[in-house]
Amino acid sequence: MTTEASLEISRRLFLTAGGTAAAACFVPSRLVAKTDGLVGSAFKEAATAKVTIQNLRRNISVLLGAGGNIAVLTGPDGKLLVDAEIVTARPNVSKALASINADPIKQLINTHWHFDHTGGNEWVHQAGASILAHENTRKRLSEATRVEGNWQYTFPVAPAGAIPSTIFKNEYSLHANNTTLMLQHYLPAHTDSDISVHFVEADILHTGDTFWNRDYPFIDYSTGGSINGHIRAAEANIAKVTDKTIVIPGHGAVGGKADLILFRQVLVEIRDKVAALKKQGKPLPEVIAAKPGARYDAEWGNLFQNPSDFIALVYQGV
Ligand SMILES: [Zn+2]
Repeated sequence: MTTEASLEISRRLFLTAGGTAAAACFVPSRLVAKTDGLVGSAFKEAATAKVTIQNLRRNISVLLGAGGNIAVLTGPDGKLLVDAEIVTARPNVSKALASINADPIKQLINTHWHFDHTGGNEWVHQAGASILAHENTRKRLSEATRVEGNWQYTFPVAPAGAIPSTIFKNEYSLHANNTTLMLQHYLPAHTDSDISVHFVEADILHTGDTFWNRDYPFIDYSTGGSINGHIRAAEANIAKVTDKTIVIPGHGAVGGKADLILFRQVLVEIRDKVAALKKQGKPLPEVIAAKPGARYDAEWGNLFQNPSDFIALVYQGV
């Protein structure tokens, strides 16, 4: 084992231990017993992470915190949110929403089923919102769901109030606050429940976790994701936008078409390098040691996926 690998394991053990102990203070009890590792750390981090508001265009802004980015559409119909963050982010998300205006939340759209995008479903529903999502989001939230990879976590059945009441399969459109929203399901990419949300008049696209801006993505093979599906969705996103489109990623800063192109390029480059090494018969530890993403690791390996974990996810799918 190299020194670097030892350090990395120590760091992760530390995060795991710290996450479990501290998360117990504010994670609902049904989650505590299973809280560990990366997911437990995320619960902990979200409880204190700052949530900042960035105004985008027209009546649309974005909340940037520890979990998935939340788009907020305001107007006479009340607030419409795209995604609901990690459950422990509730106090800071509530504060940020209240600082925009006092209007109630009337509608929530989930970009996919993951806990860092649907964790707030129950309280947002209790606050008066109905929930809309892809049919597979409802399916995953309605049953206990195990996620392997570096999550290694079993999510319990979501509470009744957290389950989307309206679902669709391929496309869905709605009007709220003088805005047209076009929702479209991706072919399996990050999960099998991913959708995009396009605010048509403002030309703002929320991609959910099919796009991470300068961060290696998690790939959820347990619920239908794959590296090749992720690349296919990256290409679909590039085809959807123009140079004027504002793009809200699932994670990372708000970007545009050039960022989508870079994201696809990084995924393809690393996928191809890992595939070539795997084809030569190299086991995963050797492929990780070869650092196929060396050009990007310092910038892209800091959020949910460190470089080793990301390479393991790519290796699994080539
Ligand atoms: Zn996700």
